[in-house]
Amino acid sequence: MQNPDYDILIRGGTSVTDKGTGPFDIAIAGGKIAAVGPDLAGSTETEIDASGKLVLPGGVDTHCHIEQVSGAGLMNADTFETATRSAAMGGTTTVVSFAAQHPGHRMKQVVSDYAALARKGAMIDYAFHMIVADTGNGNLDDDIPALIAEGHRSIKVFTTYAKVKQDDKAILDILDLAKRDGALVCFHAENDGLIGHMTQKLLAAGKTAPKYHATSHPREAEIEAIARMCRFAEFTGAGIMIFHVSTREGAETIRRAQARGVPVQAETCPHYLFMTVDILEAENPARFMCSPPQRTTDDQAALWDAIADGTIGLVTSDHAPYRMDDTGKFAHGVDAPFNKIANGMPGLETRLPLMFDAMVSNGRATVEDFVALTATAPAQAFGLTGKGRIAEGFDADIAIWDPKRRHTYGPDDLHDNVGYNPFEGHAVIGWPVEVLSHGRCLMKDGTCLAKPGQGRVELEGALAGLLTLALGAEGRGDAKKSTGADSQVPDIVRELVLVAGGRNPRQLPEVYC
Ligand SMILES: [Zn+2]
Repeated sequence: MQNPDYDILIRGGTSVTDKGTGPFDIAIAGGKIAAVGPDLAGSTETEIDASGKLVLPGGVDTHCHIEQVSGAGLMNADTFETATRSAAMGGTTTVVSFAAQHPGHRMKQVVSDYAALARKGAMIDYAFHMIVADTGNGNLDDDIPALIAEGHRSIKVFTTYAKVKQDDKAILDILDLAKRDGALVCFHAENDGLIGHMTQKLLAAGKTAPKYHATSHPREAEIEAIARMCRFAEFTGAGIMIFHVSTREGAETIRRAQARGVPVQAETCPHYLFMTVDILEAENPARFMCSPPQRTTDDQAALWDAIADGTIGLVTSDHAPYRMDDTGKFAHGVDAPFNKIANGMPGLETRLPLMFDAMVSNGRATVEDFVALTATAPAQAFGLTGKGRIAEGFDADIAIWDPKRRHTYGPDDLHDNVGYNPFEGHAVIGWPVEVLSHGRCLMKDGTCLAKPGQGRVELEGALAGLLTLALGAEGRGDAKKSTGADSQVPDIVRELVLVAGGRNPRQLPEVYC
């Protein structure tokens, strides 16, 4: 065919798009979505028949640990290649992983090191959260502002874990910087003293088995730290994200803070929605150890309520892969006490089928809710413009789902490098059968077609995020409006706007905020 109108036309499916959900064809040209509509005319190089299928935006997973050295110095099991392969097989087309600083390191070097790993291995698009473990040493003064200006607009802070945790003053310093420069600060929020106190008591009593991990991370640790971080956000005015909310009271604390106007967002993860603490009584419980730990069925009900009312806007995997051997969970021996066993489990590949099954197949919510929770909202929260929606001009990152296909997870059926599936035995209805990134086929019928290194870094976030802040301040009639919304937009962003066509930020289309 000579000069077809489009590279790809996806026909015959039910598509969830900015124009609504319906029998819309999707046309792709140059890696972008070129047109959306019923019975699109035009010639095409390739036609994909999506009859009987759902055509959805590719998933956006904004919390995953990839090729990362933990605070305890342990390298996790996945490279960018294996982790992003696993993500793609499960319908996810963008990840935000961590550039994990350890004390004494310069953040610029840390981000550059992780970016080199991702450039080599990533099969899908990616961005980074900067884990801040050292606010001195030029990091807060020079490196982090420079990195935010480059487009790395997410900071991650731990309130616990000895080597990386930040005290209250350091957290406030970071929040001030984030507010000034337009970054989002994400928290692992658990009270360190409470965990240390309980760990010492349990070990002294000889209670060292994995199941005591949950006792060592009492719910009060999460509740206290979430409340404190919400107050800090309220005090500084900085936008924050509470990672992996696990308790009813934690969700309620966030709900109340949001009602006061505190700029706090929140996520939870499938292992809190689909597992309870009883799982630590199972065989090989180290497989399921994570922080915070799984809780109760009452907490699960509260988390679903918080998702339904919007208190929790994102569901991410918190993919934290450690093998069940001496490279991972048992680095300190198979009989190691609970506090010497690496926390975390794989989740990149299972997140979307588990959520699709629970929300769409089981009728708990709509397919639009599923898309919002797992793609659109994560992309918006982290300023990933062009991601998380099927709309003209957006990247052609698309997952085609068979809503009827059934799958029961096996013991080791994922495409990461972890060697076990924590959701073994869990049956789902609904399955991604074809996945595209920038219009290129990543996966078809369970076969991975992606190449290591084909993923691209997502840096537009700084621009989008800052414009959102500026627009939001004006839209809300914020008391600080008299200082001018534009005053929040650093020069570098104004320059980018000029480069982008001289448009006033306030006149940008709705998709940017
Ligand atoms: Zn995590």
